[in-house]
This record gives sequence, structure tokens and C-alpha cells, in this order.
Amino acid sequence: MFQKGAKLYGIFKNKCPQCHNGDFFIESNMFTFKNVLKIHERCSNCHLKYMIEPSFFYGAMYITYALTIAVAFVISLMGYLMGLSFIGVLIFISIILTILSPLSLRLSRLIYINIFVHFDKSKSVDN
Ligand SMILES: [Zn+2]
Repeated sequence: MFQKGAKLYGIFKNKCPQCHNGDFFIESNMFTFKNVLKIHERCSNCHLKYMIEPSFFYGAMYITYALTIAVAFVISLMGYLMGLSFIGVLIFISIILTILSPLSLRLSRLIYINIFVHFDKSKSVDN
């Protein structure tokens, strides 16, 4: 499931969707806020252009929305089970979503490009 060739490998390891070798984001630490969404222009291995067309990653906002709703649902269930009030649950959700926002933004971009670009074993280099 998390081996080269699987979509989840490229998504969770921050790798090029086509070869799974080159890094997708410039900064591997997602909490470096200055460069959190900066991506390489091209893959260092297979030279795939990551920005497939102008404004390509605007579509990733729909995936961010879905991820945010899913996390908010799970957190609200946790807050309900912990016995928090409605306002407490809202504050809890706000804090957790703020902390997780770099993760959801990056994951959504990786998921989005993996929808359009498929793994090509001939362009991968086995390490
Ligand atoms: Zn590549």
C-alpha cells in the first residue's frame, strides 16, 4: 500500500506522482510557513512539470474542503464524546483545523495532482 507505484506512497511521501523519486514540495517540513505551499517547478528525476496548466491547483481547494469537513466531523464526534459544550466543540474544531491546515493544504495538492498524473514505472529509478 505504501510501496512505490501506489498513489498513497506519492501522496504521503511528498513525491512526484509520475516517478515517485523527485520531491514535490520544496520544503519537507510542513510547519515552515514561509514555504509551505512552494513546489518544485519540475521533477528532479523525470522532469514532469508540476504546474500542469496555469492555476492548476485551484481545483485542490475542493479536496481541502472535503478533508476539512471529514476532520471537523471526527473532531466534533470526539468533542461530543468528551462531553464538551457546543461552543467548546467549535473552539476545539477551530484549534485543531488551524494546526492541521498546512497538512490539509499540502495533502490536497498531492491528492489533486495524483488524480491527473499516473505512476509510470519506466520513469522511476529504483533506489
Ligand atoms: Zn518524477
